[in-house]
Amino acid sequence: MTEDGECTHESVSCLNQFELVRKYRCDDCAAVMMCACDEEFGEKFLAHQLREGTELETQVRIPVTHGFLSGICPECRGLPPVTAPMAAIPGRTSKIKRYYWRELFFAVRTAQAMWDDEHPRAAPEDRERAHAQIEREVLDEIKQLHASTPRYTFTELSQAEVIERYGVEVEALSATYARAGAKGAQIVDEGTVISPEEFTARHYRNQGWSVLPLESVPFHVLFGVMLWTLIQDPRDPLVRMVGFGCRAAFEDKREGDQNWTHLPSDFGSLGYSQRRAEAIDRHFEQFIDEHIEWLFDYWVPHSERLRQYLWAHRPEDVERACELVAILPTATLIEILRYLLDGYWEHYLGWPDLLLHREGTFTFVEVKSSSDKLSEEQKRWIADNHDRLQLPFRVLKIHRTATI
Ligand SMILES: [Zn+2]
Ligand SMILES: [Zn+2]
Repeated sequence: MTEDGECTHESVSCLNQFELVRKYRCDDCAAVMMCACDEEFGEKFLAHQLREGTELETQVRIPVTHGFLSGICPECRGLPPVTAPMAAIPGRTSKIKRYYWRELFFAVRTAQAMWDDEHPRAAPEDRERAHAQIEREVLDEIKQLHASTPRYTFTELSQAEVIERYGVEVEALSATYARAGAKGAQIVDEGTVISPEEFTARHYRNQGWSVLPLESVPFHVLFGVMLWTLIQDPRDPLVRMVGFGCRAAFEDKREGDQNWTHLPSDFGSLGYSQRRAEAIDRHFEQFIDEHIEWLFDYWVPHSERLRQYLWAHRPEDVERACELVAILPTATLIEILRYLLDGYWEHYLGWPDLLLHREGTFTFVEVKSSSDKLSEEQKRWIADNHDRLQLPFRVLKIHRTATI
């Protein structure tokens, strides 16, 4: 407070660290503002993002009330910068790109705009080439900067640290690998060339296990089918119509119609399951052992729209989700669905490759060929499985004995 009672916004919280121009809310007076150090860039390149912020947990849009003020962001207050690594996606898997995404964007856009000003009559292909060149140069500069004076410390654990810390059981197999081809690692087994997953499946079938290949998509199907009445509940005041492109058409590379589905505006956020806690508990009361497989079958066609939205529409994935429902105990299915409800977009990736099952027992397996490393999503899943899901799980490592 100043002497005349005006708030000086001593303590602020960032609404969403994944926004390019971050918004901060004062913990005392609830004013929403941006930091003056972002003003020049923001006004020039992101003018449409300065009027409101989207709160990360709830996805609620919150108007900016106080514009740009000086000394708001942690760095301008002399504190360490917010560390907010982006999830790994194709084209953004390196740690530099995931941690420095904001710096990269700011520096690249500034340099590209400068080039455009200096070459007003450049041909489009020259401009494209120059822009790509700038991207590479900026990335190199940031790499060098990180090597000499790192702005962020990469806190993620290595594969070995994850396995050690979470007590993951590791089973080792040896195999002869085929020389690397277009399809990734391949294994020579009994005279045929097969994938590491197929090699593993043979190994477990020989031990009397039934093997269901998984990865993440069957869990997206499970989520869509078993939760559609909850997610699309017409009594939820935040549910509205959302348009999206037809997934099957996209996969066939043809024009598709716009699809529509009902979704709550905070879908997939951390706040959703808190807001809907009572409705979620009521929903799971319908999950009775004798009914669960029937419910799944009954809900498959009704959940089609939601599953399209989630890219969980392919018949082969629906079939695998159906097997999951038959194999896993109801309590385990509920635990998995509750985990997905607590932040779908945080939890939907990283699921293991295989489910082994026989006579009422089961275990999940992540297959790693000799050069293959756990992804950040898989590491997060392993940590969450240790802390919360506690599903039986092991990593199967296929060591290379020779290459032919
Ligand atoms: Zn204030
Ligand atoms: Zn600042």
